[in-house]
This record gives sequence, C-alpha cells and structure tokens, in this order.
Amino acid sequence: MTAPLVDRFAECIAPASWQAVDVISDLHLQAGEPDTFEAWLAYLRQPVPERADALFILGDLFEVWVGDDVLSPHASPSVDHAFWRACAEALKAYSAHAPVYFMPGNRDFLLGPAGLDACGMQGLSDPTVLVFMDQRWLLSHGDALCLADTDYMRFRAEVREPAWQHRFLAQPLLQREAIARELRSQSEARKRNTGSDPSLWADVDTQAARGWLRHAQAHTLIHGHTHRPARHDLGDGLQRVVLSDWELGARPARAEVLRLDAQGMQRHPLQP
Ligand code: MN
Repeated sequence: MTAPLVDRFAECIAPASWQAVDVISDLHLQAGEPDTFEAWLAYLRQPVPERADALFILGDLFEVWVGDDVLSPHASPSVDHAFWRACAEALKAYSAHAPVYFMPGNRDFLLGPAGLDACGMQGLSDPTVLVFMDQRWLLSHGDALCLADTDYMRFRAEVREPAWQHRFLAQPLLQREAIARELRSQSEARKRNTGSDPSLWADVDTQAARGWLRHAQAHTLIHGHTHRPARHDLGDGLQRVVLSDWELGARPARAEVLRLDAQGMQRHPLQP
C-alpha cells in the first residue's frame, strides 16, 4: 500500500509576532477521565505570560465525536452532553487570547464547522505545513502514514467518504453513540489480541514519511496517533517527532506539550 497522495500540502504561515507555538495531540478527552480533563483545564488557564502565541491540536483531542449535536440541548441529548459543553466552553474562552488550530484525528474527524465554532477553533487539513521561525514544520495526525495496518487504512478510507459521513450523521444521536461504543469495544478486543505491547502495533511508515517531508520541503514531521513519544532520525537530515498522548489517570501519568520557539523544540511534561 502506498502513502495517500496530497497534491499540494496546505500551509499555515505564522505571523512574525508569534514567538512560541504549542503542539499537542491525543488527549482523548472523555467524561470518564476526569484527571486528564482537569490537567487540560489547568493548561488552558495558565497565566497569560506563560502561554504560547498559538495552539495546534493534531487530532484525537476527543476520545470520540459522533456529531456536533452532542453540544446541543437536544430532545434526547448526548449521554455526556454536559462534559462536551464544558470542553467547548473552556476552549472558546482560551481562544479569545490565542488562536487554536484543530486537525482531525481518527476519533474526532466528525467535528464539523459548528463544533469548531463552538470550541473557538480553526480547522486544519491533514497534513499542513506550518511556516514558523524560518522553518517548515510538517504537521499530521499520523494515522494516514500507518500503512502496514491495512484493515485500518480500509476503514479510514471508508469513513472519510462524504457519503458515509452523511449516512452516519443522519442517524439519531443516541444511536450514533451506541455505534461508537461498539466500535470502541471491537478495537479494544483487537488490541488485546495483538497484545498490550505497543511496539507490535502499526507505526508510521518511514519511506512514506520521508516522501511527505521531501514533498513539503520540510525537515521535521510532527505527529501524534501512535502514543509512542520519540524522535526518529529518518536520514538525510529528516526527522519524525512523535507527540505524547495524555492520560493523567495512568501510572506513571502521561501528558506533554511540545513547544516550538526560537530555541527549537522542547517537550514540557505536565504535572498531575
Ligand atoms: Mn489517533
């Protein structure tokens, strides 16, 4: 299987006034993980001088997103309606001070224009080149490059079709939530069969990553999705930087922000 073709990568050109940019992914926010949500609120409520000039979220901010109507006071509202509203309101408040960019992940690709607006976020296509500090940083969620997972790649192609999304979103909200729970438990079962060792799960394909970087005329690919934070040297001066997922309930807790500034890149672990 070959990497998906992207004719021309989207670009996001940072204004000269930006001194620092934060990049995060894979918070998997959900009502059942209150510790992670609290850490996220603490991050959003940092004193203004400590904040970045822009926040880039590279997908899987939410554990699941079955449609923007989870935010609506529906006749039969989402099981976690209050939680989704709290997420949107906290982001909206933060976005009054700094722009927030959102690239969809495999969990929250159904976040639409109404959801983006409620959260005060601007949508980004996957991949996007961020032009910042005289460098081109290639940003992606990362799942599109996990080529060895052919079952997932087939599923991904199917659910990214507008016709599939239209059919899915036409179903009642509570039914969509039930389908999402079922898909989730199937994926958990697959993980148990593969074993709990993440090194056995599909990873980003090196040749595909190199191809994207050359095409983007960038040296650094930053992505999430795999939950395996690391820096990989891809040769020829190219590198792949993997973001950490956030799970404050895990022991040891995991949560990290990647900050880009004049010094380069630094990982900032968040304390529980
Ligand atoms: Mn993902």
